[in-house]
Amino acid sequence: MKRLMTCIECPKGCRLTAGVGGRRLISVTGQKCPRGKKYAKREVESPMRTLTTTVLTSRLELKMLPVRTNKPIPKSKLLEAMKAVKRMTLISPVRTGSVIAPNFLGLDADLIATRDLGKKL
Ligand code: SF4
Repeated sequence: MKRLMTCIECPKGCRLTAGVGGRRLISVTGQKCPRGKKYAKREVESPMRTLTTTVLTSRLELKMLPVRTNKPIPKSKLLEAMKAVKRMTLISPVRTGSVIAPNFLGLDADLIATRDLGKKL
């Protein structure tokens, strides 16, 4: 099976054509440097994504706090991660970069605040 993708390792954005067998990369064409093959292999065999979402708050200046993981997590865990975030309520002020959930879901990534959020005035 052929799979088309765009390499995002640099601004050139090469259009790659990956030959895929099951969950394995068999071949790749279209890359202008070796990083393209590495990108295609990772994207086919173990895709990762940074989770970006919001957490509900209580008695703080905004009802929702924007958050993200501080590094990519397995794409296959995104739904579980979103469900876990939906169960959270933040009750204390935070600064940008504050850790909201360390080692989030045991994925070796922290969930962090992406803006300051103070108490409700
Ligand atoms: S294959 Fe190489 S040149 Fe092309 S986008 Fe990826 S990193 Fe950039």
